[in-house]
This record gives sequence, C-alpha cells and structure tokens, in this order.
Amino acid sequence: MAFVAPAGTPISPLTFAVSLARGLGSSAEIELGEGLAAHARHSRYWLVSTGRAAMVLALQAMRDVTKESQRVEVIVPAYTCYSVPAAVIKAGLKPRLCDVDPASLSLDPEALRKFDFSRVLAVVTANLYGIPNHLKSIEAIAREHGVWMLDDSAQALGAMHEGRPVGGFGDVGLYSFDKGKNITSLEGGALVASHPELSAALDRRHAQLPPASAVRTSTTIVKLAAYAALLPPTLYGVVRKLPGLGLGRTLYDETYPVERYSGTLAGFAATLLKRLPALTRGRQDNAMALLAELSKVPGVQSIEVPPGSQAAYARYPFLMIDATQRVAVLEKLEAAGIGATASYPNALCDVPEVAVHLPAADLDMPGAREVASTIVTLPTHAYSPADLPARAAASIRAVFAK
Ligand SMILES: *Cc1c(COP(=O)(O)O)cnc(C)c1O
Repeated sequence: MAFVAPAGTPISPLTFAVSLARGLGSSAEIELGEGLAAHARHSRYWLVSTGRAAMVLALQAMRDVTKESQRVEVIVPAYTCYSVPAAVIKAGLKPRLCDVDPASLSLDPEALRKFDFSRVLAVVTANLYGIPNHLKSIEAIAREHGVWMLDDSAQALGAMHEGRPVGGFGDVGLYSFDKGKNITSLEGGALVASHPELSAALDRRHAQLPPASAVRTSTTIVKLAAYAALLPPTLYGVVRKLPGLGLGRTLYDETYPVERYSGTLAGFAATLLKRLPALTRGRQDNAMALLAELSKVPGVQSIEVPPGSQAAYARYPFLMIDATQRVAVLEKLEAAGIGATASYPNALCDVPEVAVHLPAADLDMPGAREVASTIVTLPTHAYSPADLPARAAASIRAVFAK
C-alpha cells in the first residue's frame, strides 16, 4: 500500500543528474557555503561530515577562545535531537538541560533566565520541525550573561523570526543535510558565523579535520539514488518494512567520524539550496492545510509559532491532549498510509546515556516530558497528497469515536 514518508525532499532523476554533475565540478562547496552564509547573514562558513560533527567543532572552537576555564557547561533544550547532548559530551563538555515550553516547543526563556551562568559556555537552540524558538529572547539572555549561543537550525533552514533567518541568531548557526531535513544529501552539516576570534578557531579546527572518506561518499551517492527513487509513496510503501534500513529509529550515539564534507555531496545540497524558497513554500502550504483540518479535531493541540515568525515545517507537529490516546492515533494514521511519528521518544533527562552526565537539578523536566509523551508529527513534503489533511483528521477522529 502507498505510504507517505514522514519527511524528505523529492529529488527527480534530472535533479539527481544536475546535482551529481555540480558535485563533480569544483565549485559546489563554495556555492553551498556562500549561499548558506548569505542566507544566515553571516560572513563565514565551514562544511562538515554531519550536523552533529559540525556541532562538536563549534563547541570545541567556543572552548578554544573562552578564557575562563570553569566554563564547561552547555545548556541544551530538554527536548531535542539526541545528537545535541551527544555532541556536547563528545566535545568534552557537560550538558545542562533547560526545560521547553510545550505550547511552542521552544526553550522556555523564563526557565533560561533562572540559570546560574557562572560555569556556562554556551546555549543551544532547537527550532524543531522548522518552528523558530523564542530566538530574540534567548539571544538577549545569552548576550546579557556573556555566553555563546549556537542557533541549531538543523530542521529550520528557511524559517524566519523577527525578520531574521533562523540559524542567524547568536554566534554560530548550524544546518544539517541529513535525510529528513529541509534540504538533503543524506548526510552533511554546516556552520555559519561572523565573530572574528571564533572564526579563527573554527578555521584552525576545520583545517585539522580529515577529508571526507571516498568510500563513504560513494556509498552515500548510491543510497541517495535509492532515496530519490523510493521516496514517492507508491514505492516507499513497499520498502519501508525492509529490515536494516533503520528508518525512524532514534538512538543515542557518540561514535561517529568528524570529517570534512564531501565536495561531491555538496552538489546535491547546493542544487536544493537554490530551490529552498519553493521547497519551504510547499511545506508551509501543506502545514497550513493540516492546521486548518486538525484545529477542528477534538483532543488535538496545535503548536504556537512565536509572533513575527515563519516556520519552515520540515514536519508538522501537534500534541495529543490525552497522552493515552497517542498510540491509537499513530496506529490509525499508519493504517491510513501516513508517515506519522512520535518523534524523539524521551525527554533528555530520561535518556540514560545523557542522564549520567546531569546534575540532580536537571533530572526533572516536566515540559519536555509532556512533549515526549504527547507529540505526533505528520509529513509536509511535496509527495504528500492533497487529501492527506482530511485523511489525517478522519484517522484521529476515529480514535475518539470509539
Ligand atoms: C538532525 C539534527 C542534528 C544533527 O544533524 P545530523 O546531520 O543528523 O548529524 C542536530 N540538531 C537537531 C535539532 C537535529 O534535528
């Protein structure tokens, strides 16, 4: 049966050929990097093997240029991608959790203000599903306390907040080209920044990275061809049950290489970056259609987008008001051929590999636990059929009708 993948970016055979040709040329990395830096209104860029590897590099560079040696804590949202605390630990630093506001999924500025910043090196945002966090407030708090801010825009390339691009807040912006992100080459990441000393430290760190492994790049190109071919719902429905693909699993992992990005893969991200406005508009239109249908469904709580923001909607998230109905809702949606997910399974305080690094004060994060137990995400990509919002709404209603 046809099945709409949870997230993705369509790559037609022509786009694949154009991307590969661009990647085999000599200027794809410059096109991509300069395009991202210009987008984020930063002056510099660094391309890295993955978003999580880029985060390790950014945090190490922040440590390199920070004189006070007690600053080893990095504040991360208590509900975000597990790669974020893993990058903090891999960089030799200590994760600290700040709770999120379930209404907006943002780091809660009120909770952040209460932090003791005396040992803090940096604050990291989340912008999950492409919905901007309260970035202006978070930036003001970071500035007031003289700590670095890393604007994690791994899911939010194309989103705007207060007239500024997400990824352009704070000192360093991060983008990812993993398979479910706004643009993709299946793996890859980028940093953008302007701060002179931090940029010099990033230059030094980046110059020491090993080049992209040629074997890994070739394998990824083959996987990209399969991804492009199989993302349409008719084929995705056939392959999604195949074992070994690891689709949709969230695991904690610190054991990945930190390498440069492949120039060949950069051809794909550079080609898709040129199409970002159209890709984002398509996802926004699909998200608005989902909002219109789901806001009429009882038991569903929509996420508030902060004022003055345009979300990029890598996915469309909502919360189930009654957590006990989520399993049934996910089953109904799946039975209807819709790639709904429960996103990251746990608040970070409940991920054992993270919890061992946390002080007792960070082990109870009610906002993040509420999100983890109630969130559902729906697809917004261009292969989502026009009747998906109505089908999704009917599937959820069917659970309540029981
Ligand atoms: C995907 C993601 C990352 C890491 O990016 P990878 O390229 O997958 O390593 C970091 N932060 C967030 C919020 C993400 O969604």
